[in-house]
Amino acid sequence: MSYFSELGLAEPILRALEAKGYTDPSPIQRKAIPALLEGRDLLGIAQTGTGKTAAFALPSLHRLAHDPKPRNNAGCRMLVLSPTRELAAQIADNMRGYAKFLNLSVQCVFGGVPVGKQARALERGTDILVATPGRLLDLIDQRALTLRHVEIFVLDEADQMMDLGFIVPLKRVAALLPKSRQSLFFSATMPQAIAELGKQFINNPVKVEVAPQATTAERVEQYATFINQAEKQALLTIKLREGLAPDAGDNAEHGAIDRALVFTRTKHGADRVVRHLTAAGIPAAAIHGNKSQGQRTAALGGFRQGTVRVLVATDIAARGIDVSGVSHVYNFEIPNVPEQYVHRIGRTARAGADGIAISYVAPDEKPYIRDIERLTRIKLDALALPEDFQKQAARLPAPSRKAPAQPQGSSKPRGQQARGGQRSDERRHDRPHGERPRHDAPHGERRGEHGSEDGGQRKRRFRSRAPKTVGAHKSAVRRAG
Ligand code: AMP
Repeated sequence: MSYFSELGLAEPILRALEAKGYTDPSPIQRKAIPALLEGRDLLGIAQTGTGKTAAFALPSLHRLAHDPKPRNNAGCRMLVLSPTRELAAQIADNMRGYAKFLNLSVQCVFGGVPVGKQARALERGTDILVATPGRLLDLIDQRALTLRHVEIFVLDEADQMMDLGFIVPLKRVAALLPKSRQSLFFSATMPQAIAELGKQFINNPVKVEVAPQATTAERVEQYATFINQAEKQALLTIKLREGLAPDAGDNAEHGAIDRALVFTRTKHGADRVVRHLTAAGIPAAAIHGNKSQGQRTAALGGFRQGTVRVLVATDIAARGIDVSGVSHVYNFEIPNVPEQYVHRIGRTARAGADGIAISYVAPDEKPYIRDIERLTRIKLDALALPEDFQKQAARLPAPSRKAPAQPQGSSKPRGQQARGGQRSDERRHDRPHGERPRHDAPHGERRGEHGSEDGGQRKRRFRSRAPKTVGAHKSAVRRAG
């Protein structure tokens, strides 16, 4: 008997959890499941890694299975909206696992792959649909999908949805949902603008908050190296080579690298880093919106399996990705939205493990680091360049000028993207260093609206972001004064 049975979940769900090896509910599951089983709406402040998928999936599956209904053509009973394709696929996978002893179907739709097959798969309807907003609306516009039968609606990663400019699509979805339904609204942060968005979906919700972002950040050893932009690549190559070497456990400054995630701000930046690493004999793959869905899946698969131990990613492509064993996160460029930093370093130190995050800070990025330290209330430890850095850097090979070597094959040429294949989030970041707009909208038409909302949010976020608890800090992590 597990603690899950005490929460009142049906036997086939308990069996699936047993098969997955879950024994105890995570804090968010413990708090959310009883209220959700009663049919209450929920406002959850939690980020990926807290077990929030099971927190919304398990009680929803229980309720759907408890009240079996025939499938409606092109309809679904539960709709989960996720901001990115990878997260949507991950949620659908998890839900299939939890539903494996139930007679409930799970389908997943997202952009970047042909819409026709997805439309055909929805003809007879599905019980659970996990979707990204753009493709969801495409399918609705093609009359391949109706939201008329939705009983449970989950909006995941609301703050990220907003950052991506999905506000208008979300309002459209809100108008298409039946009035009588159960709604769950999750966000890693809850500034005023997100709370306002939430009001459109949820009604008298129970509020559940776990592991505020700043607390999560405290489990990660965090360092900053102040360095010129032009020297970052050499430093990264040197440090990765050191950490990936067989004797790294004894010799590398920050221990052996199991898996490293490197964040760049632009797609081209990610390709460039991969090109340099490959030239230096370090196998690496990039994941970003210019890659086809197949390439992205393959890159992530190789990283999960450990065949490629360095994944270079743009923020959005990496959001929500649940890969265990990410020991090091390198911020090759510093995000100008401080919350993004917390999401990045949250890729390591998952499920209670510790991790190391190292930020390479160019002179013009210093203000971003100040914002980050204010948000997390953690001061990054300064890390000096290696003594013989210039000498080591001079010995590194020059990269080939060809397309980046990808273990999964080359990326599609620009301009051949399937509609929706190139992602707005990354499109907007593809500009020279120092010219970063903080936000943008996918189709360009929502900029004014979104920009002004965020401008207001940013100040408010600082005021409301004091960490609730102060965990045991690593020696390297000091509280900012
Ligand atoms: P999520 O926040 O939903 O992305 O979940 C993070 C990770 O924790 C996923 O790999 C889940 O499979 C795992 N997980 C979720 N709930 C539990 C639990 N109660 N016990 C152990 N692992 C869990």
